[in-house]
Amino acid sequence: MKKYIAAFDQGTTSSRTVLFDGAGRPAASAQFEFPQIYPRPGWVEHDCREIVSSQLHSFFAALERAGAGPEDVAAIGIANQRETVVVWDKFTGRPVYNAIVWQCRRTADFCAAVKAGQGEAVYQKTGLNVDAYFSASKIRWILDNVPFARRRAEKGELLFGTVDCYLVWVLTEGRVHATDYTNASRTMLFNIHTLEWDEELCRLFGVPRQMLPEVRPSGADYGVTSAKLTGAAIPVRAAVGDQQGALFGQRCVREGDVKNTYGTGCFLLMNTGRRAVRSQNGLVTTLAAGLGARPDFVLEGSVFVAGAAIQWLRDGLGLIASSAESEELARSVPDTGGVLFVPAFVGLGAPYWDSACRGMIYGITRGTGRAHIVRAALESIALQTFDVVHAMEQDLRAEISRLRADGGASANGFLMQFQADMLGVPIERPAVVETTAFGAALLAGLSCGFYADADAVAASCGPPAVFVPQADSAARAEKLSAWEGALDRVLRR
Ligand code: ADP
Repeated sequence: MKKYIAAFDQGTTSSRTVLFDGAGRPAASAQFEFPQIYPRPGWVEHDCREIVSSQLHSFFAALERAGAGPEDVAAIGIANQRETVVVWDKFTGRPVYNAIVWQCRRTADFCAAVKAGQGEAVYQKTGLNVDAYFSASKIRWILDNVPFARRRAEKGELLFGTVDCYLVWVLTEGRVHATDYTNASRTMLFNIHTLEWDEELCRLFGVPRQMLPEVRPSGADYGVTSAKLTGAAIPVRAAVGDQQGALFGQRCVREGDVKNTYGTGCFLLMNTGRRAVRSQNGLVTTLAAGLGARPDFVLEGSVFVAGAAIQWLRDGLGLIASSAESEELARSVPDTGGVLFVPAFVGLGAPYWDSACRGMIYGITRGTGRAHIVRAALESIALQTFDVVHAMEQDLRAEISRLRADGGASANGFLMQFQADMLGVPIERPAVVETTAFGAALLAGLSCGFYADADAVAASCGPPAVFVPQADSAARAEKLSAWEGALDRVLRR
């Protein structure tokens, strides 16, 4: 009898494995960080070997904690950092360059030029706004800068993959070269309407078609691992981009369901069902995770600085000793005393789109104390989220009825309550906030028959914590208008 599904959560700074039991409860987990490589300002890379070894280490460490062995694992599901690019030699398996990470800005100038000329055409096909963030221009950079790479790619000797795809290829010892719809939809080479790689986009970004993997549903057959690597031959039954994994793990599988992950930044994703919503507010459209041949569409917006503002109060200013202390401090005062905090450390993303503006703490008086500033920082996370949700509602011409929350900062009860107050809808925080890993495990478990009913499995961990709106509408309107005023002082609009 197999006992577990192993979720491989391959993130930007660490690799984690969470073992989920037959009821869908986390039984054990382990996590290893790996180094970030910054060759120049604005450039970010990972050593591909460290991605693989940290992932496998975490797998064996999690098994040990559970007192289990690899033969107890029914299947593996992979959730991965999205957009990051690996190009490797088809014959030796050796990457020709480090993985270029999603955060890397090295291709920004090229992308600005493409955007000016073909931005609309690219959006029509991919749902994305041309940016260095997505995979396409990073592949091009490798082919243009690694000796012989372009020629070898054209001859079919090099392969491209996002991190899920590379892990699958390594784990199956080169037997499977495949990715899923969610990862493909972040490359900027994939037509999200026809569900095919696009020849024109391949030409535009100089990526030979033959480098690209086959694209499958997120929960599907991705081959069987080599026993040499994982201790037993284990089926890989899911691959999914981390944010879409969390969306699936949060059971946002119906049109209008929306979740926000409160981490370093925020990632808001809304399932829009069969509708590919054309955003008027700079949000992007991507594909949702699923098991069928036709994935749902997703409307996505992100907030660059969320939990990072709390980190800054802790590490930059020394105002608090721990992130968790922010909650107690925020609750120690009745309000911010008129202080507003706009954490535009790197400009502001959706829906303001101003990369040159910078942060501000406004409204300081002689009575302002550190609790007011900390409270204003927490409020800024919810207020930025409010603006993205509002943009989604405008694009959709419909209102959301609740928001599901996860991520490190969702542990903060003050933040959750304030978010509910501002949005005027309940916030639901699941009992298990490991939603990315859970989503990958759920997809893999459903795909191999280990789980039968997704909603029942999700419910087995207990009911979510629900934060019901309490603020009256006048207080809410006053706060939102003060926030608008603060934005006016920061944005160049
Ligand atoms: P990521 O996956 O982006 O690294 P996590 O989901 O682990 O982030 O969340 C970490 C972030 O959440 C940090 O920026 C941290 O400051 C913030 N954070 C963690 N706990 C709290 C808390 N109780 N209150 C507010 N912020 C918090």
